[in-house]
Amino acid sequence: MNNIYDYTKEELEDYFLKIGESKFRADQVFNWLYIKRVKKFDDMTNLKKDLIKYLNENFNLNDLKILNKQSDIDVKKYLFELHDGNKIEAVLMNHDYGNSLCVSTQVGCNMGCYFCESGRLKKLRNLSTFELVLQVLKVEEDIKQRISHVVLMGIGEPFDNYDNVMRFINIINDPKGINIGIRHITISTCGIVPKIKKFMNEKTGVNLAISLHAPNDDVRNKIMPINKVYKIEDIIKAVKEYIKVTNRRVTFEYILLKDVNDTENCARELINLLKGINCYVNLIPYNETSHNEYKKSPKVTIDRFYDILKEGNINVTIRREFGSKVSAACGQLRSEQITRKEN
Ligand code: SAH
Repeated sequence: MNNIYDYTKEELEDYFLKIGESKFRADQVFNWLYIKRVKKFDDMTNLKKDLIKYLNENFNLNDLKILNKQSDIDVKKYLFELHDGNKIEAVLMNHDYGNSLCVSTQVGCNMGCYFCESGRLKKLRNLSTFELVLQVLKVEEDIKQRISHVVLMGIGEPFDNYDNVMRFINIINDPKGINIGIRHITISTCGIVPKIKKFMNEKTGVNLAISLHAPNDDVRNKIMPINKVYKIEDIIKAVKEYIKVTNRRVTFEYILLKDVNDTENCARELINLLKGINCYVNLIPYNETSHNEYKKSPKVTIDRFYDILKEGNINVTIRREFGSKVSAACGQLRSEQITRKEN
């Protein structure tokens, strides 16, 4: 059976037309689902009885179960259980500009970045559109506040679940629904070049972030297996094309790993690599995990790296650290839970 949260408004309109209903039913259903937030077709009281019966027989309204919550001052982490028993997580961050939710896109991840906890658990499957949408709905319901920003930076590679991710963006951006501004949505990718190009032509207005993490192939090969497929040169070429077509600035994420990619030479190489590109660099203090050897760069090293980039006229910020107490780094909550079970 189909899930109603899988449908964009346009898809619902087509669906209703096909079954001989008026297109306007899509507006009504969207309003019940995303404005009034009812959880039963029976509560959609302005629909005809026949149609409610039809919807009950043909659609699911699956909910996500919140298994566990952990809170810190400015961060709240959710562990969800999916209908098949798999678990995913989402992280809510309170910024001064609003609530930002980091959503997962897959159960596990196949990219296998050595520093990342998510990849410890291989991809079992893609999340469906409704499982993406419900992460937003459940968290809003829990905090009784609006989520203003969504980042696709949780477990999984969004460009490895492309169609569902695009549909999700369409749904949460719909002005007659959850209405999250398109410029308040960010997709983060480890650099799947063909998908960067595909995404560029959709001209969505969504922000693009690239997990670069290294200034050259030697360093990147050591930490990100995907670099064997798409080299830094390919990524940079694709990003330049992306900027030309979309006229949007791109973010490069750069996790600072002690003695791996945090040297002054790396900083200088990064300047050369990014010179003239309309971008900014987000330096990410590494969130250590017990499952690998990588260490967080000391604060002085992070500051030095930052200063060198600044002097080289690169727009650069250091990511504020959220919730290291609640193991908020990608995949850590789910991974911990699974490790506990294995022991
Ligand atoms: N697959 C996508 C999105 C998920 S990862 C991507 O690679 O961009 C989201 C971001 O968190 C990436 O930049 C990733 O490299 C980073 N990340 C993963 N583990 C981390 C950790 N332990 N500490 C800090 N950042 C981490």
